[in-house]
Amino acid sequence: MTKHFEIFKASITSIIQETSKIKVFRLNYGNRKFSFIPGQWIDLHLAIPGKNIGGYTIVSAPSDLGYIDLAIRESLNHPVTIFLHNEANIGSEVMITEGQGKFFLQKEFLNSPITFIAGGIGITPFLSMFRSLDKKKNPPKIFYSISTEEDILFKNELNPYSIFTATKNRNSNWSGETSRINLCLLQKYQTNFESHFFICGPKLMIEDLVLELKNYGVPKEKIHFEKWW
Ligand SMILES: Cc1cc2nc3c(=O)[nH]c(=O)nc-3n(C[C@H](O)[C@H](O)[C@H](O)COP(=O)(O)OP(=O)(O)OC[C@H]3O[C@@H](n4cnc5c(N)ncnc54)[C@H](O)[C@@H]3O)c2cc1C
Repeated sequence: MTKHFEIFKASITSIIQETSKIKVFRLNYGNRKFSFIPGQWIDLHLAIPGKNIGGYTIVSAPSDLGYIDLAIRESLNHPVTIFLHNEANIGSEVMITEGQGKFFLQKEFLNSPITFIAGGIGITPFLSMFRSLDKKKNPPKIFYSISTEEDILFKNELNPYSIFTATKNRNSNWSGETSRINLCLLQKYQTNFESHFFICGPKLMIEDLVLELKNYGVPKEKIHFEKWW
């Protein structure tokens, strides 16, 4: 049976252009209870005609009370995303659900080695996971693939834990990786293949990586992925 999620009002209290294509929206939901597990997403409803619901992943941590942050990449097709990027303002009201979905960091993984693998805007579920981890006790390893260096979201925050790979249009002073994320790249950076692997990104990237990891002997229980389509 599909779970019914209550929807309630939230207001936009800040909008920050973090990269040329990604804006971070802060939604204040007041004093009410709001529950989510790092990695989960919400439905966001707008009072616009036609398709008026979008799914977006929470990037702030559950310890941030009273608000959630969403990092949303611009779109040419999706009416809710287009409205948020082009028409929403500070003070705009939206309707949201609490956290949903099964792609999250389970409590029992918190003390196990963790490898995050992200393609593009697929970084979002890892941000709330990353922000919730005790990084002194259990530093994660992050592989983050983007088209160009300018597309890296929260670069400074992620940098100490990340291998960035810019697959197109690199600046001449780019010193990061340039290949797609694959087994070779994981091996080059001494990835712990006993770790839990969390993967989110374009369909083909997920399919290729899941196959490579399975063929390499990583048990399927340790390969977690999120498909948005
Ligand atoms: C559960 C869920 C969570 C989502 N969370 C976010 C979010 O945090 N931020 C955000 O900007 N959008 C997110 N989306 C996508 C968003 O809801 C819209 O689908 C998106 O804005 C549509 O953009 P588009 O038309 O340009 O998609 P297209 O570019 O046409 O892409 C088609 C589909 O593939 C997905 N996709 C494309 N590239 C990637 C990638 N690198 N990694 C993962 N998926 C990809 C798109 O999200 C979309 O669903 C999420 C979607 C779902 C279902």
